[in-house]
Amino acid sequence: SLNVPDKPIVPYIEGDGIGIDITPVMKKVINAAVEKSYGGSKEIQWMEIFAGEKATKVYGADVWMPEETMQAIKDYVVSLKGPLTTPVGGGIRSLNVTLRQELDLYNCLRPIRYYDGTPSPVREPEKTDMVIFRENSEDIYAGIEWESGTPEAKKIIDFLQNEMGVTKIRFPETSGIGVKPVSKEGTERLVRKALQYAIDNDKPSMTLVHKGNIMKFTEGGFKQWGYELAKNEFGATELNGGPWLSFKNPKTGNEIIVKDVIADAFLQNILLHPEDYDVIATLNLNGDYISDALAAQVGGIGIAPGANMSDTIALFEATHGTAPPIAGLNKANPGSIILSAEMMLRHIGWVEAADLIVKALSGAIAAKKVTFDFSSQMDDATEVSCSEFGDQM
Ligand code: ATP
Ligand code: MG
Repeated sequence: SLNVPDKPIVPYIEGDGIGIDITPVMKKVINAAVEKSYGGSKEIQWMEIFAGEKATKVYGADVWMPEETMQAIKDYVVSLKGPLTTPVGGGIRSLNVTLRQELDLYNCLRPIRYYDGTPSPVREPEKTDMVIFRENSEDIYAGIEWESGTPEAKKIIDFLQNEMGVTKIRFPETSGIGVKPVSKEGTERLVRKALQYAIDNDKPSMTLVHKGNIMKFTEGGFKQWGYELAKNEFGATELNGGPWLSFKNPKTGNEIIVKDVIADAFLQNILLHPEDYDVIATLNLNGDYISDALAAQVGGIGIAPGANMSDTIALFEATHGTAPPIAGLNKANPGSIILSAEMMLRHIGWVEAADLIVKALSGAIAAKKVTFDFSSQMDDATEVSCSEFGDQM
């Protein structure tokens, strides 16, 4: 567990676009919750660090991700981040991808929780309560791709056809080629986190979501290695002859079921029977689709929080982008970054302040005083600005 001082320094990146609207509101809300919970004995010392467009203003034209920023995220271990503009052209990778790769933030955590009164496209959204662990370093996202017509792509095609005996598939002249790496080690460190979470939070199940029926050695490997890990490290045993497993939560004595589901069936089931799922562990691309689909079910990206973590570093962040059309208009929903900060408080053990934030946010939504993204979908709701939303919390 973390050894957190009473007045920790927390680096934060304000973010571009609506970052300038939501991040100051988030800080105000967090400070108020901490003050109210601990009466000055605990306090966050915010330290601004720069990335994205704002970094180019502070550090110079080409510096989108300053070394100092990376170092601060490493040194201080826990930090917060608003959305970032990724520069177009110039061969600069997505800043989010840069951060994830350089800091090995392999675990993308996305809690999906419903707040009463939130507009939703499903009939019983309150049945949706899940936490997604998305593997963040492997899979088709690893970026091993070749453009059609390049010598590299031709070489790979030649290799597949002439040395690997791939004859059933034609490779027309214009064929992009991608490689999907999935490792046992990468799977294990992710599934381990998901199972530990289920134990710590007394959840009744952990589900591996995969497409192993089609991709046997990558997605299928994920499923197999996930089950094996549950057996070997958590003492899980077969349930009714398998393939599902179960084990006793060592902290509470309750049963935890370890199961799997094919990704397409899962996407149907979350609409029909969301109550069947608690903790989800999945591969990178599946996790991308699933996170946003589930977020939409409980109010959309405007209030979907997230964290990207390694074994030591935790970077909490709003899951949406910079939303340029509403940037600087004091209109954006600050919910996503506020709830990301709430996750951060829980992570450092400041549970009372975190609980207070959840209560205040629930209250604001129940009172139907909400930002435009919500009010436009609700009957008799009053639209409030980004800062007003924070103030009423
Ligand atoms: P980027 O290029 O940075 O991803 P984007 O325009 O794709 O920017 P997103 O944040 O991904 O922006 O969101 C797409 C749309 O969702 C926005 O244009 C906006 O209408 C809505 N949206 C996103 N975040 C919020 C928010 N916090 N509050 C209200 N609406 C939001
Ligand atoms: Mg976007």
